[in-house]
Amino acid sequence: MSVLTRDEAQTRAQLLDVHHYAVDLDLTDGDETFGSTSRIRFTARAAGSTFVELKPDTLHSATLDGAPLDPAALTGNRLPLDLTEGEHELTVTATMRYSHTGEGMHRFLDPTDGESYVYTQLFMEDVQRVFAAFDQPDLKAVFDIAVTAPEGWTVLSNGITERQEDGRWTAATTPPLSTYFVCVAAGPWHSVRTEHAGLPFGIHCRRSLAPHLDADADEIIAVTKACYDRFHEKFDEPYPFDSYDQAFVPEFNAGAMENPGLVTFRDEFVFRSAVTATERMTRAMVIAHEMAHMWFGDLVTLRWWDDIWLNESFAEYMGYQTVNEACSDLFADTWIDFGVARKAWG
Ligand SMILES: [Zn+2]
Repeated sequence: MSVLTRDEAQTRAQLLDVHHYAVDLDLTDGDETFGSTSRIRFTARAAGSTFVELKPDTLHSATLDGAPLDPAALTGNRLPLDLTEGEHELTVTATMRYSHTGEGMHRFLDPTDGESYVYTQLFMEDVQRVFAAFDQPDLKAVFDIAVTAPEGWTVLSNGITERQEDGRWTAATTPPLSTYFVCVAAGPWHSVRTEHAGLPFGIHCRRSLAPHLDADADEIIAVTKACYDRFHEKFDEPYPFDSYDQAFVPEFNAGAMENPGLVTFRDEFVFRSAVTATERMTRAMVIAHEMAHMWFGDLVTLRWWDDIWLNESFAEYMGYQTVNEACSDLFADTWIDFGVARKAWG
């Protein structure tokens, strides 16, 4: 598989203006693979050759402006495209594999009750494990996500989701997003839902953790609302997305991921036994850190990965500052933890 270089990304960003993705995923295909169709509308600013990325189990078909492309042309993760100047529509249909490594569409079987859950983790270049995409952070586009899921599952995504009469779930159209921010989390989630500032807020975990999430739901939601209000005092720009869901997901590699409107957290943050005050404060800080990214990271995004240091260190700074300002009733001075633990680590 070829790794996209910065030069390649710059060349492609000069050539393409990507407008819209319609992504259709079918999660009813068993526990090994899922169906994936990606329809991309984009403009080529000039005639030229480029490629779209995809890491399929099986590539079934690809059409460019209605004309079939040869699936055998897929080389590694790159499907070549020869473009004329102007508007184009590319449709790619494939079978994809679930992962068990937290990359792409991770699938988890809960040993407690036999329930299955899937969720995406697409940073940095794993969208191509889920659907065909021009996978680089500065080619933002609007996304319409649709998901067919097993009976009894709830589908969460960046935009507000709704179950249609035919059983398919659709998510509200997103604002322009980098490909690595697309998120789908599906399964028989246990959810606690509320509303704040006119937007739906939700917290979610696998069913077997429900009593533990419920025990801390008041605190998690209080921290979320307080930080949300504090960020609105600090930033002129209003929260840019249509909902705020926080899903505590199993076998997550990092601490959390700032998917717009659907933040994912490792579900070790759903505490199952007595914890220290510092562990509670750390969870609050991660909530605030991810929320800071809604503006700095998500609404405004690095052009290339060499700016990730700023994205992350700023979110970390805002996380500590905001919990200190907004949640002083719950946590003592957060800057002590920052100085002892995080500054030294940094
Ligand atoms: Zn971060």
